[in-house]
Amino acid sequence: MTTHPFNLNDLLRPDIQGMETYTPIVPFDILSAQLGIPEEEIIKLDANENPYGPSPLVRHALAENPYLHIYPDPESRELRQRLSEYTQTPPEHLMVGHGSDELIDLVMRLFLIPGDKIINCPPTFGMYTFGASVNGAQIINIFRQADFSLDVPAIETAVAEHPEVKLLFLASPNNPDGSALSETDLQKFLNLPIVVILDEAYAEFNNASFITQVPHYTNLIVLRTFSKWAGLAGLRVGYGAFPLDIIAHLWKIKQPYNVNLAGQVAALVSLQDKDYLLDNVAKIIATRKEMLKGLATIDWLKPYPSQTNFVLCKVVGRDAAQVKAGLAQKGILVRHYTSHGLEDHLRFSVGTAAQIKRLLEVLRSF
Ligand SMILES: *Cc1c(COP(=O)(O)O)cnc(C)c1O
Repeated sequence: MTTHPFNLNDLLRPDIQGMETYTPIVPFDILSAQLGIPEEEIIKLDANENPYGPSPLVRHALAENPYLHIYPDPESRELRQRLSEYTQTPPEHLMVGHGSDELIDLVMRLFLIPGDKIINCPPTFGMYTFGASVNGAQIINIFRQADFSLDVPAIETAVAEHPEVKLLFLASPNNPDGSALSETDLQKFLNLPIVVILDEAYAEFNNASFITQVPHYTNLIVLRTFSKWAGLAGLRVGYGAFPLDIIAHLWKIKQPYNVNLAGQVAALVSLQDKDYLLDNVAKIIATRKEMLKGLATIDWLKPYPSQTNFVLCKVVGRDAAQVKAGLAQKGILVRHYTSHGLEDHLRFSVGTAAQIKRLLEVLRSF
């Protein structure tokens, strides 16, 4: 018998062979079975999803749509027109993605070749390091300060010392702490010879955005999403505003049907029903205020102020992983971090008022 001269490891990209396996989240129905708690009784506060769900008009529009068998518009023209009105940004600057996660990856693919570098400012959203690794880039971590503000001089120094740095990723408000970037800091970053990607996934919760600034700069990208404020996380619709010189190249590498028909329809209808959805955002903000007050009365929790739909807490004198496990036993799912500097922190998404009342009751009972 001849041996087949095939060796997978000779063919696979060495950097991917060396990558750690990503731990995916456990879907709702499996969690419910694991915990022995019915799905409708689980309080899911671990992924910053919208507790009110999508606009009721979305369900109707999806059920009624006659074109599910036809490929969607690769340029999302109607949606970009409506987004232009919503964001006060010209449509030629806008591109829609399969979630803003896809746009993060596309931007990386546009700029990064192996050996290039990005600046990441942890603790922050995990997709920036994920995407950089997949694209063969190196990550320079410039850690945030104790209050989660950015270390501006360290970022400026890193750019000066590493000519391979091409991109700076910033979430504002930042996930997981909820603090926002100042205009002064942004201005300093825009003066650097790199592209600044500002991820504003939570913009509707602090009613602030730099998206209208994009046409005035050559190196500012702003990303937004329907996942959080519009309750469409399951349908995957994000969008970004890009300088014209950048978006021209981005169109070349975007897959034509990246945004599916359901996503485009749901996003359009969400914009038509934005008053309803922004009313839910207002409810979430009101609940967040109550939640912060409640959390502050628990002496082993130190909540941070938040401009988003979640609250980060430092756990003092107890094991955060055990608190998370204790909450899960009661059907309440929250986020615990094992990353540097956050081992003793928990993040709670803002649910409905009733869900947060329950969260506080259970926490007080520990
Ligand atoms: C939730 C989140 C996103 C995810 O956006 P999708 O549009 O669902 O891909 C992006 N950035 C940050 C900071 C987030 O917290």
